[in-house]
Amino acid sequence: MPTTVQKQMYEELRNGQLFEQAQQYASAYLEQVLERNVFPSPEALAQLAVFDEALPQATANGKAVLEMLHQYGSPATVAQLGGRYFGFVNGSAVPTGLAAKHLATYWDQNTAMQVISPLAAKLEMVVEGWLRDIFGLPPEVVAGFVSGTSSANFCALAAARFHLLERQGWNINEQGLFNAPPLRIVTGREAHSTILKAISLLGFGKQNIEWVPTDEQGRIIPSEIPQLDDRTILILQAGNVNSGAFDPFADICAQARDAGAWIHVDGAFGLWAGAVAQLKYLTRGMELAHSWAVDGHKTLNTPYDSGIVMCAHREALVSALHMKGGYLVLSEERDGMFYTPEMSRRARAVELWATLRYLGQAGVDEMVWGLHQRAKEFADAFEKVDGIDVLTEVVFNQVVVACESDEQTEAVLQSVQDQRVCWVGGSHWHGRRVIRISVCAWTTTSEDVQRSVASFQEALSANLK
Ligand SMILES: *Cc1c(COP(=O)(O)O)cnc(C)c1O
Repeated sequence: MPTTVQKQMYEELRNGQLFEQAQQYASAYLEQVLERNVFPSPEALAQLAVFDEALPQATANGKAVLEMLHQYGSPATVAQLGGRYFGFVNGSAVPTGLAAKHLATYWDQNTAMQVISPLAAKLEMVVEGWLRDIFGLPPEVVAGFVSGTSSANFCALAAARFHLLERQGWNINEQGLFNAPPLRIVTGREAHSTILKAISLLGFGKQNIEWVPTDEQGRIIPSEIPQLDDRTILILQAGNVNSGAFDPFADICAQARDAGAWIHVDGAFGLWAGAVAQLKYLTRGMELAHSWAVDGHKTLNTPYDSGIVMCAHREALVSALHMKGGYLVLSEERDGMFYTPEMSRRARAVELWATLRYLGQAGVDEMVWGLHQRAKEFADAFEKVDGIDVLTEVVFNQVVVACESDEQTEAVLQSVQDQRVCWVGGSHWHGRRVIRISVCAWTTTSEDVQRSVASFQEALSANLK
């Protein structure tokens, strides 16, 4: 006899009402996500207090749980799917990718091994090949499907560590880091914080980084790179998180490779420039690297969470993330868990596959180029606004602006955020308080840009009084 809860859950699974209800809530949400204010109202945020309750003793009714989530959760979300969210570097979601993720949610596949989900393994293999092609990477490059670029950077640097130490006759997995031959880490002053996190986690120590000075756009200055050797990991960047600038790969990679260094490229959002004819010049030379980290959930506009580590040394990546167990059933082809830190994982290749299958090369071109165009429109519009300066060159999708003083910039930022027409974040750039606009959502239209700039103008006039 099924228990009470089990009976209730069978009923919920079979009659489908819960899922219809979720679908209705989702549709209602989608209907207003493009138009609504980007940031939730103070009232919606205050109502989040309803979630402050002790774990209930009794089992609830599924519909009531969903209803609570929709009633208090939906209004408190930030409309990141819409066209006026420019904070951090956050993409929207291509509808086909979102719908595919929805379907895959019901499949509930674990992608650890091919024998657990042949479908997920197949899609991972297909997407791996497509990514190699679209970025112009060599045929030996393999891909691991991880939660984001934080994880991808970590995996890539672990592979680099394994490989460089193995060349020194040292097996990091067996012998560990104590007494290991020293490796060198060389990276630019503008390296992303997740690179520093990976360096800490991997035991390299941030103090040991050999920092390379960067220019006014945030690019590594090639002549300032120290002498490299075969014990060095050189970490470059495709897309500075503030300015969107790209390190000059073409001037760096061939020599670094000849010196025997391992080159890693953090291309969380910027690597996608390399997928688009008009913007490819920005990543020229990056194909000579040994590993790359990139997100689906930023520029490609897949839903969260979706990052990819790519590596030209399969052995190094698989060895660094190695995993053994008598009960594991390994296939001839591809077991996803060898390319990621996790064993059990959701099938995130589904929405990557669906998004790429839907967009095709033409769609990727148009979408990514569109992000660049909207960013240019922002910069052009700001050029005409007295009191706001555009501080960096808009090479990709990022725009950095500031007012005359840090105080004014802060006040304008606050006022724009309070208006809720759009959402932009603050940052620091070359000693100044700045506002950073990241155009990363396919949903952003020229009208969204105009409405957002108008919000800045209103903030400016309110604060100049
Ligand atoms: C966003 C970002 C990261 C971190 O990526 P997550 O997907 O958030 O983990 C790393 N590097 C750069 C340059 C980024 O923009």
